[in-house]
Amino acid sequence: MVSEAKTSEVAPFNDGTTDYVPLRKKDNSNKPHIADQPFTWSNWHKHINWLNCTFILFIPVLGCIGAYHTPLQLYTAIFAVLYYVNAGLGITAGYHRCWAHSSYKATLPLKIYLAAAGAGAGQGSIRWWSRGHRSHHRYTDTEKDPYSVRKGFWYSHIGWMVIKQNPKRIGRTDVTDLDADPVVVWQHTNYIKSALFMCLIFPTLVCGLGWGDWFGGLIYGGILRVFFIQQATFCVNSLAHWIGEQPFDDRNSPRDHVITAFVTLGEGYHNFHHEFPSDYRNAIQWWQYDPTKWSIWLWKKLGLAYDLKQFRQNEIEKGRIQQLQKKLDQKRATLDWGIPLDQLPVMDWDNFVTEAKNGRALVAIGGVIHDITSFIKEHPGGKSFINSAVGKDATAIFNGGVYNHSNAAHNLLSTMRVAVLRGGCEVEIWKRSLPDGKIPTLTDSSGQHYIRAGDQITRTVRLVPMVSST
Ligand SMILES: [Zn+2]
Ligand SMILES: [Zn+2]
Repeated sequence: MVSEAKTSEVAPFNDGTTDYVPLRKKDNSNKPHIADQPFTWSNWHKHINWLNCTFILFIPVLGCIGAYHTPLQLYTAIFAVLYYVNAGLGITAGYHRCWAHSSYKATLPLKIYLAAAGAGAGQGSIRWWSRGHRSHHRYTDTEKDPYSVRKGFWYSHIGWMVIKQNPKRIGRTDVTDLDADPVVVWQHTNYIKSALFMCLIFPTLVCGLGWGDWFGGLIYGGILRVFFIQQATFCVNSLAHWIGEQPFDDRNSPRDHVITAFVTLGEGYHNFHHEFPSDYRNAIQWWQYDPTKWSIWLWKKLGLAYDLKQFRQNEIEKGRIQQLQKKLDQKRATLDWGIPLDQLPVMDWDNFVTEAKNGRALVAIGGVIHDITSFIKEHPGGKSFINSAVGKDATAIFNGGVYNHSNAAHNLLSTMRVAVLRGGCEVEIWKRSLPDGKIPTLTDSSGQHYIRAGDQITRTVRLVPMVSST
């Protein structure tokens, strides 16, 4: 017999979560779960979740065979599409954004509609679905993620339902708020009856009583419609973790892609969603496809939904900028910025002059010695100017004495540096004064040194002639 575990029996953990306790109590024997045993020829059939296979694979195959022998009537087709959208919203706006994430509050009539429509999508009860989804968000890409894409595309799409999983492996989540919602509890305890009615009987009745297409109602309005909704929703777990951009954080798998959004009534902006899960929107731009968001907004206008949660644009932009910065850092790290100053040897002035006299084209600029031998013939200002600087401190010449070199010139110069000049020059004193001889430099998020335009060591502030007031 079905018995209910009361909410009060669920003891919270230190982190505020509670263990999932099924409303229907199960036999708790100490036998190891089949999911923890390897696949063998003799036990493979025990690994298969035959009930799920029936609902998501076998019945759709029967539906296809039925469709082959049943012509599709126009009214039935229109009804199937409309019912598809409603049941889809039951999942996206109901199961997902209302119950799993509490991103807005629904009035009782809206809740009843969403629970009924969601039951017509054949994806389990609100309570079961939300529990798994909260786990997926809390433990994304880990062993505790019930549909981790790290186990492969097909595992995250359908494998996790077709092959039995040990429920104890799935990460803990708190569902006490759902246990306090009478609509959720009623739907959970009456799920099989509700699902059979909403998935199959209701569409059969509508098409049969409406225009006499009983079998078409069952096949197109029922079986095949459910199959397409199931596959579309499964895409959120697979495709939305597989294809697309990661504008907010690329450390986990969720991605934004318009194709996934089209397939899933707007759930395809999944990188945003994993960053801001309690936002009632998935798409934040007005032109992006998110009919689930538009529906919730419309329900608010009709007085059916309230407390729509939305992250401040400031918070969203911070995440976007940090990810952009990370990408910039990665790009910067692939470029040649010259040998870091703290890794250069120190050269005496006399040595510098001697080497220059012996034919090595060395130039000191900003306390750094550069070997320009291979560059002389390419110098845009001609050979004579650059030759006149060899063996000298050309800091002033380079910084406006003869020509105020461009930012690009300073960058190029840095790739030619070979030593730091000893003898009172700024860089060398700086280097010597530090305990480990390391020159402090700015580093990016991956620890690479970086230099901003205009901040090159070779660039000096231009001298302004002193004007006497007397
Ligand atoms: Zn996800
Ligand atoms: Zn979610």
